[in-house]
Amino acid sequence: MAEYAEYVANKIDRQNLFKIPLRKAIVLFSVLFFIVIALGSSFAYYFVMRRVLSENSMKELKQTMNTKRTIISAQLEKEILLTKIFASSTPAKHYFLDPSNEHCKREYFIMLNEHKEFFQNKMISWISLKDSNYYVNEQFMEKYSPSNPKHSWFFETLKYENPPLIKVDFDYLTRQIYDLYINYPVYYENKAIGTVGSRYSLTEFMNELDLPENVYLFGKDGVVIGAANEKIAKEKKTIMELFGPMGEEVYESALSLGKDSSEILYFGKNHYSISSVGSVNLYLVSKNEVNIKTIIHEKASIVFFALLLLMALAFVVFNMFISYILKPVDKNMQSYIESSLLDELTKIPNKRFFNMRIEDEWNRATRGQYPLSFLMLDLDKFKKYNDTYGHLEGDILLRESAQIFSKCLNRTSDFVARFGGEEFCIVLVNTKIEGARKIAEDIRISMEKAGKITVSIGIVCETPKIGSNCNDFIESADQKLYEAKNTGRNRVVG
Ligand code: GH3
Ligand code: MG
Ligand code: MG
Repeated sequence: MAEYAEYVANKIDRQNLFKIPLRKAIVLFSVLFFIVIALGSSFAYYFVMRRVLSENSMKELKQTMNTKRTIISAQLEKEILLTKIFASSTPAKHYFLDPSNEHCKREYFIMLNEHKEFFQNKMISWISLKDSNYYVNEQFMEKYSPSNPKHSWFFETLKYENPPLIKVDFDYLTRQIYDLYINYPVYYENKAIGTVGSRYSLTEFMNELDLPENVYLFGKDGVVIGAANEKIAKEKKTIMELFGPMGEEVYESALSLGKDSSEILYFGKNHYSISSVGSVNLYLVSKNEVNIKTIIHEKASIVFFALLLLMALAFVVFNMFISYILKPVDKNMQSYIESSLLDELTKIPNKRFFNMRIEDEWNRATRGQYPLSFLMLDLDKFKKYNDTYGHLEGDILLRESAQIFSKCLNRTSDFVARFGGEEFCIVLVNTKIEGARKIAEDIRISMEKAGKITVSIGIVCETPKIGSNCNDFIESADQKLYEAKNTGRNRVVG
């Protein structure tokens, strides 16, 4: 009975929101509400933070780039200038025109030794186109030939329109250390007749430059000559290789920059800051990316997540509070339904309960195609009992009879209800006629044994067909009961 009242209460409750019980609907709604708020605010936070962090990092980068530009200029410009002066000197020109001339050679070497003191690295190399001999300081190393790919830098420098040509390469002697070579052509009557090269230790240069992780220094050919990770310079990686398709645009934008100027390029969440370094044909580029990871690592994110957590907590408390408030309402509704479905005198289900329940059971048996048994019971000559012992005793007997009927039922799905007056009915779910007869006989005997009054019972059993009516079913039980009365009472018919 309580379970059925709960079921009915639940059914009434479901009429409200989302066709689910009110309390569940409130929880679901608040969870959805929380998810929408959490997602919405997270997205808003992400986009605002991305913008703020981008702007901040751009400002920071601009400063870093300016500083690095100054360092590069300070480090390289002196070397470049010295190489240029050396390459443009008259003794160099004379010597390069005729390397075999002892006088020119002597003059050239005197000048070289004077200049060397000013060069940072004290390593000057040169090649004259006339004899193609490669010298490092005064030492002859090898003959240069256009067919040797290792010698290509020399021929490249000769043709280079915008000297110096700065390259990263192996140190000539050990082939283990990487160096930065500043190569300058020697011109005679506007024609390159050889090159002079000044060497700079790459490690030393990089240590002095101390580039941040995301900043790269590259030359006019797009090849990186300086990065926080020295490997990138040693492997002669190009900007295109480093940045993928964006590298091309970065490279082109860099070449079109004026002296000591800078530009910012935006590609989605990545932005690139490019900066040209003085007149040395070098460019600084920094790649910056503001992604979820960088945003999460921000201090402000801790506050944001704490707020989200607080909000989640508020939703949990709100739900607990609502559950707490609605619990007595639920209970009241259930007890109200229970009392409206109970017979006041006998405390067993009443006719209203029976009407609701029989329809449910009938439909369920139709769907499940199982037999439903129905017993109609009527106390024999109850009027006489009433007249003899009075109405109060009659009421007591009705209550006792209801107790006896209930006790004879074994399954929780079976139920007895007061049909009206001294008439009762019993519904036996999924029970064949033989089972129903046994229970009816049990009841009849129990009443007989109690010794106050007997009972007549009419039984029907049916596996309901789709579209059939349960009223006819009840009616036929009534007829069986009538038959039991007419054939002498205190009997079971059906
Ligand atoms: P039969 O064997 O043919 O069923 O005879 P009966 O006297 O039991 O049947 P009848 O229908 O003639 O009388 C039923 C009586 O039940 C009439 C009424 O006074 C009595 N009755 C109905 N409801 C109540 C009740 O709630 N309390 C009491 N005490 N009596 C009731
Ligand atoms: Mg009657
Ligand atoms: Mg009767």
